[in-house]
Amino acid sequence: MSYRIAIIPGDGIGQEVIPATTRAMEALPVDFTFVEVPAGDEHAAETGEPLPQETVDVVMEADATLFGAAGETAADVILPLREAVDSFANVRPATAYPGVDAVQPDTNLVFIRENTEGVYTGLEQDVTGDASTLTRVITDRATRRVAEYAYEYASEGEYRSVTIAHKANVMRKTDGRFLRVAREVAETYPEIETADVLMDALAMHLIMRPTDYEVILTPNLAGDMLSDLAAGLVGGLGLLPSANIGPDRAVFEPVHGSAPDIAGECIANPAASMLSAAMLLDYLDESAAATTLESAVLDVLAEGVRTPDLGGDTTTSEMTTAVIERID
Ligand code: ATP
Repeated sequence: MSYRIAIIPGDGIGQEVIPATTRAMEALPVDFTFVEVPAGDEHAAETGEPLPQETVDVVMEADATLFGAAGETAADVILPLREAVDSFANVRPATAYPGVDAVQPDTNLVFIRENTEGVYTGLEQDVTGDASTLTRVITDRATRRVAEYAYEYASEGEYRSVTIAHKANVMRKTDGRFLRVAREVAETYPEIETADVLMDALAMHLIMRPTDYEVILTPNLAGDMLSDLAAGLVGGLGLLPSANIGPDRAVFEPVHGSAPDIAGECIANPAASMLSAAMLLDYLDESAAATTLESAVLDVLAEGVRTPDLGGDTTTSEMTTAVIERID
């Protein structure tokens, strides 16, 4: 079986970590056809289009997509891309790996973030010369879909608990709805413990006692922010992978952005992108290859091979070679 994978390196370090990742994927005993397509700032500067239709077409025909990062045009690239694949759930694991300096070395969390609405629907306007508004959308349908995904994920992954993050005491209509619908779904999974917590308190608890949490179900913006906070707990953005899951398509991407501050220096940590590829392999039911790739990355980190974000001086390419040596 040969898998057709859409590859979108995009901008900044996306141009470094995605080729590093496809190099590592090529070392696996799985047959891939990579179809590289453009998106992002550079393509927009050349053509006026941050996300060309050709790219969307390739994504729609692919078995899965691996995306790097987009810079200034991020909202014009990743949001329509997520919309195209109808990715209703954004999965962001945050795990502290052996050998990596982490603020909280026992952290092992998975954020399941609603990925289609909340404050990311683009419903913003200037109402007067000196005031702007933003409409926050929460629907039963989107909440139910992501909550069902979170509980299925917890159930299949043998997690004991799901925590619903919200601010329903203030955003009574929108987060009130999110909490109510998520609790309805929770009732159908009595074997999984359910807790709910105010998202601002959760930010503090995550720093002090991350081991109290396993799967965390969040509205869109809260998931974006809290997963970056969790990245800080486990060693930084260079380590966090993610998946955008739709009903029959999915896009995998490192949580980090284009990191313009280090782009072009060949020092970006490719771990987040490689771990995203491991999630992609799991999605394709290539679990043995997923484990091989993930273990290779973790072994290399545990051996002390570190890019500068983790306190070392290994280059992107040297780390990639080390990962490939572990696969072979
Ligand atoms: P963008 O606007 O594209 O999101 P950004 O710089 O605001 O870019 P990130 O790209 O997520 O946000 O980077 C935040 C910080 O984390 C930067 O200092 C960056 O250098 C660092 N960083 C992110 N990803 C990596 C990585 N893979 N390797 C090393 N450092 C990284």
